[in-house]
Amino acid sequence: MKILKIDHLGIAVKSIDQTKAFWRDILGLGFEGTETVAEQKVTTAFFPVGESEVELLESTAPDGPVAKYIEKRGEGIQHVAFRVEDIEAALAFLKEKGVALIDETPRKGAGGAKIAFLHPKATNGVLVELCERQAP
Ligand code: ZN
Repeated sequence: MKILKIDHLGIAVKSIDQTKAFWRDILGLGFEGTETVAEQKVTTAFFPVGESEVELLESTAPDGPVAKYIEKRGEGIQHVAFRVEDIEAALAFLKEKGVALIDETPRKGAGGAKIAFLHPKATNGVLVELCERQAP
């Protein structure tokens, strides 16, 4: 399996509208607009930072994974995403190594990416996302 870089850091927030000014206006990051991924009950906002990005995540429903995360642990870094060359191959490799996976097959993420999550029990409590997308 080949990891290319940290693709993005996912940060759970209650409101993108109320949070984006800090990232855009204070830190001066580019803001590429929001996208809703209905399947995951989440709206995302990406802010490029060099080779990587910050992803703000706002739940679209009280029972969505991001809403549940905030309920349990408050706002903050929710996941780290690694860009991989071939997500199917990466998942097959991890499965063969006995690594617990949330997604055994990729699903659709924001920006047309293919994504899959590893189980936090396999990663010292860090929710790890694998993501494959076209450059950049
Ligand atoms: Zn993500």
